[in-house]
Amino acid sequence: MALLRNISNSFCRIFQRQASSDSACTIYSLSSGHVKCGVSVIRLSGPRTKQALRAIIASGSENGFEFEPKPRQAYLKSFYHPVSKEMIDRGLLLWFPGPASFTGEDACEFQVHGSLAVIAAMLDALGQCDGLRPAKPGEFTKRAFFGGKLDLTEVEGLADLIHAETEAQRKQALLQSTGALARLYDSWRKRLIRCAAHLEAYIDFAEEEQIEGGVILQLTRELNAVKAEIKDHLNDQRQGEILRDGVRTCIVGAPNVGKSSLLNMLCQRSVSIVTPLAGTTRDIIETMHNFGGYPVVFADTAGLRRQTSDAIELEGMQRAKQCINQSDLILLVADARELTTLDSSQSKSVTYYIEKYLNDLDIPLALCNDKVVKLVANKTDTLKTDELENLQKLSNILTISCLKPTNEALQEFLHALELQLQQLCGAPRAEHPRITHMRYRQQLERCIEHIDIFLSDYKPDVYPDMAIAAQKLRQSVRCIERITGHVSCEDILDVVFKDFCIGK
Ligand code: GDP
Repeated sequence: MALLRNISNSFCRIFQRQASSDSACTIYSLSSGHVKCGVSVIRLSGPRTKQALRAIIASGSENGFEFEPKPRQAYLKSFYHPVSKEMIDRGLLLWFPGPASFTGEDACEFQVHGSLAVIAAMLDALGQCDGLRPAKPGEFTKRAFFGGKLDLTEVEGLADLIHAETEAQRKQALLQSTGALARLYDSWRKRLIRCAAHLEAYIDFAEEEQIEGGVILQLTRELNAVKAEIKDHLNDQRQGEILRDGVRTCIVGAPNVGKSSLLNMLCQRSVSIVTPLAGTTRDIIETMHNFGGYPVVFADTAGLRRQTSDAIELEGMQRAKQCINQSDLILLVADARELTTLDSSQSKSVTYYIEKYLNDLDIPLALCNDKVVKLVANKTDTLKTDELENLQKLSNILTISCLKPTNEALQEFLHALELQLQQLCGAPRAEHPRITHMRYRQQLERCIEHIDIFLSDYKPDVYPDMAIAAQKLRQSVRCIERITGHVSCEDILDVVFKDFCIGK
């Protein structure tokens, strides 16, 4: 049973260790943005919160120091500087006693008028209160984590929610910040811990025949079941990660086919220079765009051609190839006039064209294996009607004239692109939370490896070294705990909290 105790105690150990180092201080900071606005929120958290809030309202009333706020109730109060006794502003005060607060500590919020002068005076006033110091970036959330209020996936979901730029990103981040992934990973963790505990019991008592041999069979069944669920979770085409990071979309093609024109049309502004001269775009031009609720990072690249002696153009082409490698979606732009020979009766003619095109440019097909490649036939305004109709019969092709787009053609093009983005990002659903960070994927893959080693070691008639087998199970639990933050992982914490702003 020592194993089980070790595992469950690790959670408490890390929290106690961290909490004792820093939570003696009470922290404060502006939690809303540092801009002029109607209302600004200043937050406090820590043991001296109540004394501080009393000090801020005390100068205005005789009994300010006895003020006993009710939890989570808004009070309209005047706020004073504790040294100069001057009134700073009149606003709302909310008291959140621990542990039922965001951080788990005593906390409060001042809602004041959002002028830079009011904010500065309030922060100065709080700085004068005993035992208070300004919060560091992410420190409120860090305290919530160490106070056991959030696990690391919820912390990261919160960071994603703060940074969300599109509707689909918001939905996914909200699900994660409210514990959808935390619950899933914790259920696997608990099941693995139970398996480990059964194995320990078997090691301890099997010889005394107090435990039936069927225990190990049940255990391997349960491990196989957990493994299958994790595998299913991993088999997600990276939809959650793509949505979180934005669909990296690379616009490639020969010089002068209209790549920059396409980017400008999609972004509805002049992002890239358009000229009749070949080789204008030398470097990668990247721009983020909200496309029907999906975040897209468009990258316009240098024109790809087989032969050039221009060193800058060569470097541009090299970067374009790298960009292809890092993308999720590739829009391969071609001049529609060059595509009129494609045979619409052949279902694979576009696929063959793409393969030949990439091959001619020395772009290894393997580079595009896990990506969606869409052929974009641009300059359709230069085609005869029957040529255009023939092109439109092909599958896996988008047709457009970036120079003279008709409203109908543009809507059709945008709709097709949006469907593609939908497929790449999927839809965030509470019952099916997705992997949003590469580190989750890596740890889950490792977890499966450890389970596999355990399962392959154990054969019904062969008795492996049970202590080593138990070690494998313990490591599989550790992998999940590194995701959720149940075990000490300072390296991960540094990365997670560095993305937070002050006041969160
Ligand atoms: P890039 O080198 O592939 O980025 O191509 P650009 O976007 O710079 O365009 C090259 C030239 O093709 C410019 O003169 C554009 O005005 C022209 N062009 C772009 N799109 C169209 C189109 O749909 N129809 C026609 N006729 N010309 C276009």
